[in-house]
Amino acid sequence: MTSLHSPLKPNAVIGIVGGGQLGRMSAVAAARLGFRTHILTPEANGPAAQVSHAVTCGKYDDPTALDAFARAVDVVTFEFENISADALDRLAKHCPVHPSGHILRISQDRLAEKTFFASAGIPLAPWHPVTDVKTLHEAAEKVGLPLILKTTRNGYDGKGQRRVHHIHDLEEAFNALAPHPLVAEGMVDFACEISVMVARGADGTVRCFDPALNRHWNGILDLTLAPAPIDPDIATQAIKLATTIAEKLELVGILGVEMFVDCTGNLLVNEMAPRPHNSGHWTMNACPQDQFDMHIRAVAGLPLPHAVRHSDAIMKNLVGPEDMALLPQIMATQGFIPHLYGKAEARVGRKMGHVNILFPYGALPGNLGIQDALGPLATKTAAVEDEESAS
Ligand code: AMP
Repeated sequence: MTSLHSPLKPNAVIGIVGGGQLGRMSAVAAARLGFRTHILTPEANGPAAQVSHAVTCGKYDDPTALDAFARAVDVVTFEFENISADALDRLAKHCPVHPSGHILRISQDRLAEKTFFASAGIPLAPWHPVTDVKTLHEAAEKVGLPLILKTTRNGYDGKGQRRVHHIHDLEEAFNALAPHPLVAEGMVDFACEISVMVARGADGTVRCFDPALNRHWNGILDLTLAPAPIDPDIATQAIKLATTIAEKLELVGILGVEMFVDCTGNLLVNEMAPRPHNSGHWTMNACPQDQFDMHIRAVAGLPLPHAVRHSDAIMKNLVGPEDMALLPQIMATQGFIPHLYGKAEARVGRKMGHVNILFPYGALPGNLGIQDALGPLATKTAAVEDEESAS
C-alpha cells in the first residue's frame, strides 16, 4: 500500500474505475508520465480499455471484480461518478482512492452537495429540499417562480429535471420526476455559464485552470471557450470559489466546478464533478500540461505544475452520427485538432470526440469569428447568437 505523500514510481499501476473517454484520456496522460493503467469496466473494449495496460471486466458493484481490480493496482481513481461510494470504500481497504469516497458521496447527491456548498460559504441559487407535496409548496414559496425541480441523484446532461413557470404545474412536475427526494432551485437569469477545473495535490497545492465559458445544445455541452470572455474580477472570484471548494473537501485529484454568472455579475455555483470534465478538454492543446496530466499527477502524489495557458481555445464536442458524418471535413480542416474516443457506434446524443481550435494568447474571436473558425462545425447556437448580435 502506498502512503499518501510518497509519489508512485514509474511503471506503478493506476486503477481507473470507468471505461469511457475520460478514462481514455487519463490513461494516455498516465502513460506520458510512465505509469500503467488498469481499467475496471463492464465494457471489454471501450474507449479507456483500448489504450490501457490491463482491464478487469466486471460490474461496478461486483465484490469479486472490485477485489481483483484493487489487488492489481497501486492507487485507484474514477472517471465515472455512478459507481457507489460503498464500492469505493471497499477499494480503499486495499489501496489509496483519490478523490475519496467521501467527496463522491457529496457530489452524487444534489442535496448533500448544496448543504456542503452552503456550509463552505459558496454562493448558490435559492434552493429547498422537496420530499412531498407539502415541502414542494414550501419550496415554491421560498425560491419563487420560475423554478427548476431536479432529482437529487443520477441527473446528467439536463436529464432528471423539470422547469416550472406556473404554480398549477408544480405537482405535475413533482409527479413526473423520480426518484424522490428532489431539490427545487430558483431559476437563475444568467448571462453565461462558466466552469473552473481545480486540482489539489497530496501536499495541499491547489492549481486552477482559467475559467472557461460553456454553451449547451439540447442539454449537452456543445462549445467551450477558453478563457471565458468575462470581467477579470469575476474570473478571479471564480478561481477563489473553486479553490475554497477543493480545500474544504481536502481533494486529491481534479474537480470541475460549474457556475452561473448572473445578469448583475454575481457568481452562483451550480454543481461540481470530482473528475476530469468535458469543459476542461480545451486544456489538452492550450496548456503545456492539461487537466488529465494534472489529475494523474495529483493521484500519483507528484508535484503539480502551474496551470499555464499558452493559447486561447475553442473546444467543440462531436456528438452523435450527425457530427461524425463530418469526419472527412474535420480531418481536412487546417487548425482543427481532433480527439476521437474510439466508440464503435455513433448513437444520437453520444459524445464521440471533440475538436480543439487554438488562437494566439488573448486573441479568442467574438461570435462571428467563432462561427467562422468552426467551419464545417459551425453550430446552431453560434448561428442564433450571430442573428441576435446582428439585429
Ligand atoms: P445541471 O444538470 O444542474 O447541470 O443543469 C443542466 C443545465 O440546466 C445547466 O447547464 C443550466 O443551463 C440549466 N440550469 C440548471 N440549473 C439552473 C438554474 N437554477 N437556473 C437556470 N438554469 C439552470
